[in-house]
Formats: sequence, structure tokens, C-alpha cells
Amino acid sequence: MHIKLFIPGPVEVYPGVLNAMSTPMIGHRTKAYTDLHGAVKSKLQQLLYTKNKIFLSTSSGTGLMEACVRNCISKRAAHFVCGEFGERWYGISLANGKEADKFEVPLGKSIKPAMVDEALKTGKYDTVFVTHNETSVGVMNPLKEIADVVKKYPDVLFMVDAVSSMAGAKIEVDAWGIDVCLASTQKGFALPPGFAVCSISAQALERAKTVKNRGYYFDFVEFETFDAKNQTPTTPSVSHIFALNYQLDQMLKEGLDNRFNRLKELAQMCRKWVTDNGFKLFTEPGYESITMTTAENTRKIDIKKLNEELGKVGYMISAGYGKLKDSTFRIAHMGDCNASELKGLLDAMDKIIKTL
Ligand SMILES: *Cc1c(COP(=O)(O)O)cnc(C)c1O
Repeated sequence: MHIKLFIPGPVEVYPGVLNAMSTPMIGHRTKAYTDLHGAVKSKLQQLLYTKNKIFLSTSSGTGLMEACVRNCISKRAAHFVCGEFGERWYGISLANGKEADKFEVPLGKSIKPAMVDEALKTGKYDTVFVTHNETSVGVMNPLKEIADVVKKYPDVLFMVDAVSSMAGAKIEVDAWGIDVCLASTQKGFALPPGFAVCSISAQALERAKTVKNRGYYFDFVEFETFDAKNQTPTTPSVSHIFALNYQLDQMLKEGLDNRFNRLKELAQMCRKWVTDNGFKLFTEPGYESITMTTAENTRKIDIKKLNEELGKVGYMISAGYGKLKDSTFRIAHMGDCNASELKGLLDAMDKIIKTL
């Protein structure tokens, strides 16, 4: 049975995308490839409101998180952490022997611009790391307001993990001065997992050239060299790039603002279901994610049982992440999801919850 995924990655992949994935293979040093690569880059620039370079990476999103650490931190990093993925990025800095400090808020709360200002004021940091949408808790951090603070420190590079918000929420890379904005493809883009993209500023590339031990696979300087030819340093997942090209066309056809508004409406619908059914929203009011909803399990239902029953009727949601496994549950509404599909899930949950 086909189980529709409402988990925050991977999300449901639609037939058109699967079909594009199965396009006959082409060589990655051919004109057909460089045309494809160039087309995908320019569509990603539209999606991200940027003129910055775009790199395509055959890895999951975590690969590009590591790339940011290896290529961009010269002096010391400030990591802003509001959940497990921010914690992961900090861990990656430590694992790479980088000097890094962590600034944390309690789970469910958002990163505040003033916190970032306090840290940067010390002059200790040359790189800032922020998770836009913290998928473990469903918090969407105020990225524009944080960006306004980072702009006051022109020598500081601004790294943004937008894995679960890119292609789901409007991110204005150039206006906000984001140096690297990265995402993998299995969330907002609704492609199969295994591929990642980022935008990268000239300043980040200049920094990379001065940083030692950038490693091999994720060396941004190598990526830049090949980018000039619309290629990647190593053989990419060409199938993902075919699918990405198809999906970006679909997005531009829908209209980016229409897409972002569709997802905002789904978020409102899901939040309403949560509060109408006697649960609470887990996240700080005003900072709820628009690509997913995290409910506090105030009714203490058996989430594992709920998911088992949902599976019988063709749906899957997610338990909480890590420490929040039993105390919260998460419903993703990103990618190509529409209102009638989300309603289908919520109606099924209504029925099952009565029996739990
Ligand atoms: C899923 C996720 C990641 C990890 O991405 P992978 O593609 O699994 O490496 C990182 N950050 C956030 C915010 C995520 O949601």
C-alpha cells in the first residue's frame, strides 16, 4: 500500500517528479548536461531572489552543512541553536576542529535578533550559523530580523540552514545578505532524498580561498571552478537534477508567491486542527513554522499507535524528535501538498483519535 508521507522529510514525491527522475541518462561532461545545469541554476536564483552563485551537491543537506564549516570558518563560529539540527551544525564545527561557541534557547523558543547582536558585538566571531526552520521543534526563526543584525557586521559570514524552509517560505538571499543558504531536496522541494543545493556569495568564496584544510569532496573553491563550466567537480546525481529542473518549472508555473501562500494556508489549517482537538501548539506564538506543525501531546495519546492506525489508511506523520519523542508530534505540510490532501489526513486523524 502507498503510504502518503506527512513527515518532515522525506515528504511525498509526486508522479511527475518520479517520471523526471527516470529520464534517460546523459554524460555529465556533455553539452546536454551543462545546459541542464545552467537552467537549474538560474531557476534556483529566481527561487532564492539572488544573483549569487548556485552549487549543486550530490549529498544530503548535512554534506553542505559540513562544507560551510570547512570552507568558511577562519577564526571562530557562533552557532545559534534552538533544536537538534542547530545542535548538529555546532557538532560538525567541533568535529572539524573549528573554534566554535553555541548560543542556545529552550526547546520551542526562537532565536532572537538581540541574542545574535550580543554575540557578534564581542568581535570574536567571523561566521554565524542559523537554522531557518528548526525541524525538530517546528520553530521558524525570524531570519530577516536576524539578517538585519548580521548586516551590521560586514566581515561576518552568514550561513543559513534552510533545509526545511527553502521552496516553502520566501527567503530573499540578496536583500538579507545571506552568504550561504543551503537545503536538501527531500523537504520543501518534494524530491527524493540524496541531493542538496546552496547559494554562495562572492565574500564566502573569497573567505574559502584563505581557509586551510577545506577537504576534497566539499571544497567550495573546486565547486567554483567547475561552476564556471556549468558542471560539478565529481559525477553528480544527474537524475536528481532532471527532477529538480522539472520541479522548479512547476514552482515557477504555480508562481512563487502563490506557492508560499498555499503552504501558509495549509499551516493555518493544521494549527487549527491541533487546537480544535485539544492539543496545544508546541512552538512559541508568532514563530510557528509554515512548512510543518508541532503539536504538544497534551492529551497524552499513544503516538506510535496513532501512526500504526494511520498507516492502515495510507498516511504517516512523525513523532517528536529526540527528547520530544512522546511529548510532541509533527505533521509536515510542505512540497506539493494541497488542502484536500491535508484534509484527508486530518479527517483520518479525527476518526483514529476517538478510538485511542
Ligand atoms: C532534515 C534537516 C537536516 C538534515 O538534512 P539531510 O538532508 O538529512 O542531511 C538539516 N537541517 C534541517 C533544518 C533539517 O530539517
